[in-house]
Formats: sequence, C-alpha cells, structure tokens
Amino acid sequence: MARGYHGEMAYLERTAETRLNPATLLPGVRSIICVGLLYKRTDGYQPLAGRDNRAPVVPTAADATARAVGRVAQYARGVDYHVVLHRMLRQLALRLSAALKDVRWTWRACVDSAPVLERELAARAGLGWIGRNTCLLNAGLGSYILLGELLTTLELAEDEPVTERCARCTRCIDACPTQALRAPYELDARRCIAYLTIEHRSAIPDELHRLVGAWVFGCDVCQQVCQFNHSTPLGTHPDLIANLIPPEIPLESLVTLTSGGYRRLTRGTAARRACLSMWRRNAAVAARNAASRPDAPRTDSA
Ligand code: SF4
Ligand code: SF4
Repeated sequence: MARGYHGEMAYLERTAETRLNPATLLPGVRSIICVGLLYKRTDGYQPLAGRDNRAPVVPTAADATARAVGRVAQYARGVDYHVVLHRMLRQLALRLSAALKDVRWTWRACVDSAPVLERELAARAGLGWIGRNTCLLNAGLGSYILLGELLTTLELAEDEPVTERCARCTRCIDACPTQALRAPYELDARRCIAYLTIEHRSAIPDELHRLVGAWVFGCDVCQQVCQFNHSTPLGTHPDLIANLIPPEIPLESLVTLTSGGYRRLTRGTAARRACLSMWRRNAAVAARNAASRPDAPRTDSA
C-alpha cells in the first residue's frame, strides 16, 4: 500500500489496522483455524500435458479472441465461494461445539468477508507457502484453493509452516501478461487483470487494454503456468465446480449486456462483484482486442 499497489481499493487502507489485529473482529481470539477448498476444474484452460508453460501462456489473447469470447476466472464460475465456505465453516463450528460441550468458547467465520490476513495465516497454519505469484501454494494440492478462517477463543496447538518450494522458478512472473508481478511476491494490483476487471471502477488505462486479452472477469494465467497446478486434484465440491458461468462467453452478448442479462449471468456467483457497467467495459476491451487481431474477419465491405 505504501507504494500505491492497491490502486482504488481504499478499503484496504481503511481496514489495515483491523487486519493486523484479529481481536478487533473477535474479542478474546486465541486461535485461527485455517481451511482451504479446491476449485480446480476440468474445463479451466489447464495447460496441456507436456506443454512448456514458459512458452506462450494459456490462454493467450490470440487463441481466445479468435472466437471472440470472453474468459472468466475459474473461481467465479460456480456458486459464490463466500456462501459455500461460510456454510462449511459454520458446520465445523457447530460440530466443534457439540464435541466441546463443557467448554465456553466463541467463534467467527470469515471468508474474504472481513479484514483478515488470510493468506499469511494459512501459510503459518501449514496449508502451503506463498508462491512468487502471491497465491497460497500447496505442493500436493496446487493453488486453486479458496481460503476461509474460523476465529476462535479456543487455545489450540499450532501447526507448523511448510518450506517454500518455488526454488528458482519464475514462470508466473514471466507469464503475467501485464507484468503485474513486479518481483517475486510483489503484486502491483494496478496492473493485474483480476484487479482491473473486478475491483477497478474507473476506466481501464489505455496502455493495458491490449494486455488484458480476452479476460472479462479475473485472470488465471499465473496459476495456470505454475508447475504445482498441473497434476493436482480437481475440486469436488459440487457447488464450487458448478457451471453457472460458462468457460467462454460470446463477447457480442456481453458488450450489449442488459440489466436482466447481467442478473441472470451472475446470479449466485462471485462474478457479481463487478457491476453491469464493469462487465460491459471489460467486454468492450476484450472485443477490441479480438477485432484488432491481424487475422480477424473484416466487417467492412471493402
Ligand atoms: S492474475 Fe493475471 S494479471 Fe494478475 S498477476 Fe496473475 S497473471 Fe498477472
Ligand atoms: S510458477 Fe513457479 S515461482 Fe510461480 S508460484 Fe509456481 S512454482 Fe512458484
């Protein structure tokens, strides 16, 4: 934030103190149970087996816009993860309560819904390490993991952090279409496609338009190229991997999206984080990218 990397996300500044002190969210908090839920999909543009992922990144603007479709990050295509994980954390708390009948304790469930340093907490809890792409990464499970926390007043034994295993790899940094990963572990959100298409309310800066490619909501590139995501298990929670939003959406339908169409498209998903005008804006950028390809079909009569 000191470098302005958070862009227009002023809420990060407003909640910085709370983020550093979980007791603000749950007085008397002593332990935080960190959980993760896999959301990797079969149709999420996984790299092909044997493909060198340092080579042109999947998805490229070229192959996606060839068919003039917009792409949506995997995590946003199923039922809103806030709802799914919150429900599961509540079930966990109730089961713990049943098991700890004689113990007085309180809890609070958080899923990207309260100012919690969830990725750092997950790393300290041993769920994985923070990769150079700034995502939490687990050697056996990859990084397509949604995080949640149960803040509790229980005094629990700590788990141990795991050892970082990025070693000398820089694939995610090399592959980022916008050079948003300025250095290992250093994300300038102002250049990140996920930020630009979801959090950034103003116009997307002209100089980044072309680099956004076909993404209309989020971006998976720095996870797709990561070696640890290639043979990891798929998500199994039916709600998370539900196909509420298709992997490809014709841009034609998005640039003219109506309020009714927007409601139908985003109903029940985290994709509603971007409002209608942002979806249209993102689609217009992707459509211009599609049209500017050298081999794009000409629409004039000449
Ligand atoms: S989400 Fe996309 S734009 Fe953002 S850092 Fe990763 S690769 Fe770069
Ligand atoms: S692509 Fe390489 S450097 Fe980036 S998170 Fe994965 S292992 Fe780490």
